[in-house]
Amino acid sequence: MPSYAYFHKQFVPLSEAKIGIATNALHYGTAIFEGIRGNWNSEQKQIYLFRLREHYERLHNGCHILMIDLPYTIDELYKITVELVEMCSFQEDVYVRPLAYKSAERLGVRLHDIEDDFLAFVIPWGPYLDVDKARCTVSSWQRPDDNVIPPRAKITGLYANNALAKSEAILNGFDEAIMLTPDGHISEGSGENIFLVMDGKLVTPASYNNILIGITRHTVIKLAKKELGIETIERQIDRSELFLAEECFFTGTAAHITPIAEIDHRKVGNGEVGEITKRLQQLYSEVIRGNNPKYLDWCTPVYKR
Ligand code: PMP
Repeated sequence: MPSYAYFHKQFVPLSEAKIGIATNALHYGTAIFEGIRGNWNSEQKQIYLFRLREHYERLHNGCHILMIDLPYTIDELYKITVELVEMCSFQEDVYVRPLAYKSAERLGVRLHDIEDDFLAFVIPWGPYLDVDKARCTVSSWQRPDDNVIPPRAKITGLYANNALAKSEAILNGFDEAIMLTPDGHISEGSGENIFLVMDGKLVTPASYNNILIGITRHTVIKLAKKELGIETIERQIDRSELFLAEECFFTGTAAHITPIAEIDHRKVGNGEVGEITKRLQQLYSEVIRGNNPKYLDWCTPVYKR
């Protein structure tokens, strides 16, 4: 089924949305992106966009850091996205990719005095880490500090770091990389935040550990507390704690909640999906598909009744 894009202030077929080869963002990674899931609910024949507003708040913050003058308010971006996904008419899980970028067809390394633009497009997209449980390795690539390239912003140029880590992991026979901070503490996966279960509590790297402050991370912290009565501790985590965790999992818009079965050839727990991880996966999958009435505020229906 053909898809559509929002490009140069218009809705156009995705195949017609093309940028020029001198576009500044292509050369210097001067863009901020987002990844938003539309989750298909087959009983209701509905797609629910999950935490749309929070994704656009993060995009706005990233644009502020990268001196991109985003020509739309969060409300306008919200409306554009719903209209775009509706126009695509998919009846399956989709992924929306918004991009705010230095759009001038002009070379030169800088952030100031360069025109900006916004685009978005939709693709059908099923599971990201296509495994029930992931085998991981600690990467030789470090997650940069905030004063190198701030990981709290989804800056396209920063993702060369993630790609180095991901390919190293895959080519070495693993499913995903776990990156450390330059001072050797756990940071995150190449496209996911990481959680450990220790003494029945959740433990996850803090914002100062060079992570993207994930929306799924926030969702899991909230669901664990409200629905399971489980606290999350946000703190610096040592590398060897990975080997002592009872359970371990990744969170991310694309990856949802993906259990980690093995890290550097050591089983996590007994190597099976742990109880807390399973309960969170179950809850999360209800919530994102609009099947839990308590959390409908987080879900934006796309198709009109
Ligand atoms: N860390 C990185 C590096 C990511 O790219 C992502 C995906 N956006 C995440 C964590 C998870 O963030 P979220 O839950 O907001 O998708």
